[in-house]
Amino acid sequence: MNKKSIKDIDIKGKTVFIRVDFNVPIKDGKIEDDTRIRGALPTIKYAIEQGAKIVLASHLGRPLKDKKKAEEKGTPYDPAKYTLRPVAERLAELLEKEVAFEGKNMTAQIASLGSGDIFMRENLRLDAGEEKNDAEFAKKLADGIDIYVNDAFGTAHRAHASTEGITHHVETCVAGLLMEKELEFLGKALNSPERPFVAILGGAKVSDKIPVIESLIERKVDKLLIGGAMAYTFFKAQGYTVGKSLVEDEMMPKALEIEAQAKAAGVEILLPTDHQVVDSYDPLNSRKAIQIEFTNAGLVGLDIGPDTAAVFANALEGAKTIVWNGPMGMFEEKPFDEGTIAIAKAVAEATEKGATSIVGGGDSVAAINQAGLADKISHISTGGGATLEFLAGDVLPGVGALDDK
Ligand code: ADP
Ligand code: MG
Repeated sequence: MNKKSIKDIDIKGKTVFIRVDFNVPIKDGKIEDDTRIRGALPTIKYAIEQGAKIVLASHLGRPLKDKKKAEEKGTPYDPAKYTLRPVAERLAELLEKEVAFEGKNMTAQIASLGSGDIFMRENLRLDAGEEKNDAEFAKKLADGIDIYVNDAFGTAHRAHASTEGITHHVETCVAGLLMEKELEFLGKALNSPERPFVAILGGAKVSDKIPVIESLIERKVDKLLIGGAMAYTFFKAQGYTVGKSLVEDEMMPKALEIEAQAKAAGVEILLPTDHQVVDSYDPLNSRKAIQIEFTNAGLVGLDIGPDTAAVFANALEGAKTIVWNGPMGMFEEKPFDEGTIAIAKAVAEATEKGATSIVGGGDSVAAINQAGLADKISHISTGGGATLEFLAGDVLPGVGALDDK
């Protein structure tokens, strides 16, 4: 990694602003899933051990946008939904340590921190300056701060005041431990992957994933396995009848272009050989597996079939690097999770045999968790959009702003 991490600098006695991702689901003041809070613990604990004075900051939901929507539609807006206070309480429990929360005189609160003390700011997005990357707001965030640490990979693709603006007002800006791990795994896969390198792409829309597909082809991934609804745009472009399966017609020329690019680069693209179909979206019944060639006009493809699962699993054998984004089918609806689960198992198996595996994307990570295989994957990326942009080869603003090694 060519960016400095919190371990590369001396933070003892310094006031350290840590941008964390505490955007957790909260219902009626109760945290429903604290994975993201736990994810930030290594960096926070390290800062405590080192004797830093810690200021934590995160966003939670989209309060101003939701408020505007509520006003326009005349529906109620509940400000209680957007406070990070429950998160501060949960963090205090996890650390068995006091976590001070933003009050009326924040400047004094931060100034009075002792070594190892923790202070948490209120939801950054309650101020319009955050998402606008307002210079004044960014300067205020840097008030009384010696060192900036970004540990929120999932928001690093957005140039906001707490991810980019603030770095113009703090001398030393480094990556936290979670961020460091993301950059190491994703950076290695992208820039110096051990081969064979196999990428698996799926999900609903080709248009979302085009930059990633092109970047992977450019980097000469050895094999590109394409499943999910995305495959139907490729099939339709090739002249197959795909019935009522999800297709992006305007992306068909692009699909053919991608196939040509892959061919020129010597990248093997594998598309499904069979799929699970139903008669209609509503109801989703009478499932059957059919060969791709025999799709009738009216059918809907919702998952890869068993032949494809076997072919894809075979393609993963011997892989040394695997990157996966996008489920193989409509995995939220059983039994259309079977294809995704079969691939998850194959990725886990390849990992056991020595591959470095990376899974990214909100739905893909949910599918891996659903399959109970998360601990069999080398790296579960915490970013959705950020992971995709990174894999597309873009420099994320929140990463680019950190000090080079
Ligand atoms: P990620 O969040 O991991 O990046 P995407 O958001 O791109 O993944 O894609 C996930 C969505 O794609 C899921 O909601 C899933 O139901 C849908 N999907 C995958 N295959 C199909 C299909 N054949 N038909 C309809 N939807 C599909
Ligand atoms: Mg998604």
